[in-house]
Amino acid sequence: MRKNVIPGSFQLMKKINTGLVFDAIRLYAPISRAEIAKLLNLTPATVTNITAELLKRNIIMESDFGKSNGGRRPVLLKINPNSYYIISVYIGPTKVRVATINMESEIMCSKQESLYSNISFEKAKEIIVTLIREVIDSCIVEKNKILGIGVAIHGIVNFEKGIVVFSPNFGWKNIGLRDVLEKEFDIPVFIDRDVRAMAMAENWYGEGREFDDFICIKVGYGIGAAFIKDKQQIRGVSDGLGEFGHIKIKVDDLKCICGNYGCLENYASERAVIRFARENGYEDEFDIEKINLEALNGNKVIVEALKKAGYYLGLGVANLINIFNPGLIIVGGDLVDINIYFESLIESARENSLEDLFEHVKIKRAKTGKDSIIKGAGLLVLDSLFDSIEGEVIV
Ligand SMILES: [Zn+2]
Repeated sequence: MRKNVIPGSFQLMKKINTGLVFDAIRLYAPISRAEIAKLLNLTPATVTNITAELLKRNIIMESDFGKSNGGRRPVLLKINPNSYYIISVYIGPTKVRVATINMESEIMCSKQESLYSNISFEKAKEIIVTLIREVIDSCIVEKNKILGIGVAIHGIVNFEKGIVVFSPNFGWKNIGLRDVLEKEFDIPVFIDRDVRAMAMAENWYGEGREFDDFICIKVGYGIGAAFIKDKQQIRGVSDGLGEFGHIKIKVDDLKCICGNYGCLENYASERAVIRFARENGYEDEFDIEKINLEALNGNKVIVEALKKAGYYLGLGVANLINIFNPGLIIVGGDLVDINIYFESLIESARENSLEDLFEHVKIKRAKTGKDSIIKGAGLLVLDSLFDSIEGEVIV
């Protein structure tokens, strides 16, 4: 859980405690007030006051009766799924998807459009804004129930400033995307990188649900990682923590998009698989479904390329294990769904990490699947619901 450690005014404590109660309900619902108090080490009176406010705002609802411990059966609480809505946006390297999601991260409706390499921001903005308008018009009746817009994008993002620092496939640099969207829609906007959105989806709904701390890796066109501590993102001093794709695993002259040499993502990503395959005579473009099919049919060139890329990712994972001694590493992305790649990565991580540390880590595929990033983008908004100290908050 979040750590309840910040001293301050009564108002601030109340906001922090409200966030904690809200988190406990979405993680353990249906849950009684007494169980929440015990879990968070808060007084029953505090929990009663906070839940009363959350009930008044329709954010939570009473569900069932729990088991009695001798006295009256306690009323159980859960999130009210349709009290508010969030607009989620995932800007990937080749497409943008926009969805409306409810308070339990269920997708109500979604639309998508293709994007292409080096598309100008102006052109992409037009597409994104149109999609958001369409999604709002087609599935939200009460516009005042939209809490905000959460955006996940590939590349480097400054969450605090709401800026896309660098988006490699589009060539965008220092784009103030949050300000642009806030001006357009007049609701709060939160922007983060895609792997962090995936990590949030896993944190609340996937493999990370039972864990306070874990590492999440996304393998796609590039490779990134997110680090979760006490169920919150950790970001590093300039928001750059987790540039896992650019750790060095080789000394050679293969230049990376970051300008350096020997980066992991040139050996373990989708573009590495296709490069390895082409070195052995494969001629097609990268198409994940085709690669999967060729692998299943035993195409030796593809099988070897997948094994090799998986091996390199395993080297990177072994480095993470040796440095951080994590209890859980979650790996997501289309390549990871291919068994040959995943098995090769596990084997290589086992071989290359310290035995005792490997014994204590679980390496799991992301459980939230194809919708993980779009759902995670929505969680950026939900997680900020009680975080804003100066700004407008609900309670
Ligand atoms: Zn690099």
